[in-house]
Amino acid sequence: MLTYYCPHCWHTLEGKATLCPHCGYDLSEFENLSYPQKLIHALHHPIPERRVIAAQVLGELGAAEALPAFEALLDELQDEQYDYYLLRAVLEAVARIPDPRRVALLRRATHHPADLIARLAHDLLAQVEGLEGFDAPHQPLGGVAGEEDQNA
Ligand SMILES: [Zn+2]
Repeated sequence: MLTYYCPHCWHTLEGKATLCPHCGYDLSEFENLSYPQKLIHALHHPIPERRVIAAQVLGELGAAEALPAFEALLDELQDEQYDYYLLRAVLEAVARIPDPRRVALLRRATHHPADLIARLAHDLLAQVEGLEGFDAPHQPLGGVAGEEDQNA
């Protein structure tokens, strides 16, 4: 049995509806969203596994538009009830998104109060910085690559 959820308030829906009876959200609007935008909504899905999968797929897609949502999750989920599996998936996705902002985001996450998350962010940051250092001479990104080597 499939359960439908309102992607706005996450109440369960009886079958397919056009408007959410709980919050009035226009569900046909959701159908028109891009695939990454739907996945960004699903980062708040009530079923934990769905949240993790959404983060993983956004990483596979390299969806830079998910970075603000990822950043918000890292800021929100800081108490003892934090969702480790989701944050792990979020950090791994951030590291896969080819966007210069990922470095700053990972660097901030190294100060996350949860030790496991801070350590994972540290490891991923080392990988990402290693990759960018390696790639920079071949594929300079505007304003991102470090200074040129001084000797020839
Ligand atoms: Zn709703």
